[in-house]
Amino acid sequence: MCHAFLTDSRFYQFLFHIDQEIAAEVKANGCRCGGVLHSARYPRKPRGLRGLLGESYQTRLSFCCAVDGCRRRCTPPSVRFLGRKVYPGAIVILVTALEHGLTPNRRDWLIETLDLWPQTLSRWRKWWREVFSASRCWQAQRGHCMPPLDPGQLPGALLGALTGGDLRQRVCQLLYLLTPITTGSCSGYLRAVTDPQKM
Ligand SMILES: [Zn+2]
Repeated sequence: MCHAFLTDSRFYQFLFHIDQEIAAEVKANGCRCGGVLHSARYPRKPRGLRGLLGESYQTRLSFCCAVDGCRRRCTPPSVRFLGRKVYPGAIVILVTALEHGLTPNRRDWLIETLDLWPQTLSRWRKWWREVFSASRCWQAQRGHCMPPLDPGQLPGALLGALTGGDLRQRVCQLLYLLTPITTGSCSGYLRAVTDPQKM
C-alpha cells in the first residue's frame, strides 16, 4: 500500500476544498429558522504533521444563526476532522488500517513522523470497534456490503470494500462516507457536492 500522500500537503489542501464546498452548501441552506448563517469558525489544534496542514487546519468551519433568539450553531460535516479527534481523519483511518500489516520499523516511522503516542493507536482501535461500529453511519454502510463486513476489521474492511482506484482515493471516499458522524449540530445537508467517485 502506498501511503506517501499522507505526508503531501496537497492532499490536505484538497480535503480543505471539499470542506469548503460542504460548508458553502450548508450556508446557502441557511438556518432551519430561516435565518442567515454567519461564519463562526472555532479554533482547532490538530496534532501530527502540523507543518504540512497549514493555516486552514487551525480552524474548523462553522456557522451561527444571525437571528436574535435563535443563534443556533451549525458546524458542517467535515472530511478533515473526525469529530473531536485531534489528529486529521485521514491519519486516524490510515494508521489504524495499516497497523496490522506494518513492520516494526515502518510502525516506528509512522509514530515518529505523525507525532503519535503509542497509546493513541489503541484508543483509535477501540473507537472503531466500540463507538463507530455502534453508529448509524456504520449500520447503513454495512447493509450495502455483501458479504457483510466484520466490525473487528474496521476501518480496513471499509477501505477494502470501496471501489476507488488507489489508496488515496479510497481514503477520500471513506472520509466522505464518515462525514455524518463528524458533527452533531448540522444534519441533512446530504446532497453530495463532490462526487466521491471523482476524488
Ligand atoms: Zn436560526
